Amino acid sequence: MPENTTDRVLRELTGRVADGAALRTEYDGGRLRCVHCRTTLNANDEVVVVVRKHYPERWDGEFPKDDTEGWEPSGVWCPEHAPEGLDDRRCPRDDYVVVSATLEPTGYHDAYGIYHADELTFGGLSVEEISLAPDDDE
Ligand SMILES: [Zn+2]
Repeated sequence: MPENTTDRVLRELTGRVADGAALRTEYDGGRLRCVHCRTTLNANDEVVVVVRKHYPERWDGEFPKDDTEGWEPSGVWCPEHAPEGLDDRRCPRDDYVVVSATLEPTGYHDAYGIYHADELTFGGLSVEEISLAPDDDE
């Protein structure tokens, strides 16, 4: 039986670092801020995250070219200002999910094996909404 989509999303996002090109501007001294109220989000805080999964091979020239592949957080909110759901400003060829998570102070190892002790990761996830782009072969 194929793995259920929610389970797959949870598996792929659990332990993922709370960082990405879109979040760079949210960082201030290694801490995240709520997109809406700018409250600093620290380790062990509950957050709501919109995460995008980009497929560079699906690029058709409509949207700015982006070579990042895989899941990347595009916004983090405190629970009080969580978005109502996914808005329309989405690339139709990307997958999007809204998840609730707890920021964990575990640090992470990047692709080069370098340990980043100050980075926060996502734990205790639950999926609030999923929007998957249609597969190319469908
Ligand atoms: Zn907020």
